[in-house]
This record gives sequence, C-alpha cells and structure tokens, in this order.
Amino acid sequence: MAIQNFQRYIDEVHTCPHCKTVMSCCEAPPIHVGDGLGWGSEVLFICLNDECKLFINGWSSIEARYGHHASYRYMEMPGSTESNVMMVGNAMAFTGSIIDLEALSKQNDRYKQEKASVKALATCVAQQDLKPAMFLILNEAANIENRRQALRLLLDLNDLACIDPIRNHTFRDSSLEQESNMILSQLLKNNFLKECVACAELIKAKASKCKHCQADQ
Ligand SMILES: [Zn+2]
Ligand SMILES: [Zn+2]
Repeated sequence: MAIQNFQRYIDEVHTCPHCKTVMSCCEAPPIHVGDGLGWGSEVLFICLNDECKLFINGWSSIEARYGHHASYRYMEMPGSTESNVMMVGNAMAFTGSIIDLEALSKQNDRYKQEKASVKALATCVAQQDLKPAMFLILNEAANIENRRQALRLLLDLNDLACIDPIRNHTFRDSSLEQESNMILSQLLKNNFLKECVACAELIKAKASKCKHCQADQ
C-alpha cells in the first residue's frame, strides 16, 4: 500500500481508556475473522501495551468463557473513540503491522518542503535566493531531476556561498556529483577565482601563491 495513503492519520492520537497509553496505528487485517467482512478501514488504532489491564485480564476471562488461550487488545477505528476489542492469540499479534506515524510525519514535511522548493526554483534567480536550490541539491531523498535543475541554476544565481556546503556533501549519485564539480568550477571561473590546491580556500584565478596558506599554485 502506498505510504501516502497513511498520511491522513498522522495527526490522529488515540489513548487507551484502560491504561492511558497512546495507541499504535496498525494496518488492518484484510478480513474481519468471524463475519468475513473487511474492516471498512485500512488502519486500526490498537493498544499494544502489554501492561494494559484489558490485555492482562483478558487471558483468564477468555479461558473461563471460551476455554481457549487468547486475550483482548483495546481497539478504536480512525476518526472514532467508540470502544472495540480485538481477540489476539499472543502478545505479538499486530506488532508487525504498526505504521510509524512519526516517521511518516517527517517524510511528509520533507515532501512538502521539496515541493515548495521546486516551485521556488522558477523565481529564485530573480530573487537572488539560493535556499530552494540548495535544499534540493543537498537532499538525497529529493527527485534527481529536480536536483539537477537546481544545480544548473547555480551559475545564474552566482552566489559563492553554495560552494562549501556542496563540497562537504556526499552525493550518492556519481553523475550528480560530476555535474556539481563541473558547475562549481565554472562558477569559480566566472568569478575569476579558483580553489587553492593545498587548503581549498578561494583565491584569485591568477594567483601563483595562496594568500591563506602560501602554497604555490
Ligand atoms: Zn491499554
Ligand atoms: Zn591555500
């Protein structure tokens, strides 16, 4: 299932009334065992706290009522605080289908920022704003074509502040790294500068000695 489908649950917090623990958001099992119907929801909020009274007491009450080894987990549907219980055969049930909403939330923020940065590329040169281009260039999770487009704007932006962060960045994609090297050296040329062969500080292209470390060029 696409991760984006779960984004809408990011802000939902369900608290178990039995133990006051924040409940886990879990992928719903495809079939509701018993009536053969789906849950009508792709996720369920379940209290997976092993210290929860409902869970601890469930073992003996199910044993007494039905004569088999199982217990209850407290459950709520998304958008509802109506009480439900799930029967579980062991403490591990549902722990494998927990959806990490916090990670999704971070991913969502990053995704929004990427979209905003791509949009800002259209106006960043006119506004002399390096930030959106740098956000994309240094963001390994961003779309590679967007990052390439951002790199190509560096010459028009002509802001030497881009050099250090890019030099200090490790590009996972070697073609992007090559392109960034080419663009940085063109940017330096355009500004009649070069990097010192010894200390990498920016110096005049024509300098025969580095003014920072005195190394011969
Ligand atoms: Zn609980
Ligand atoms: Zn130097």
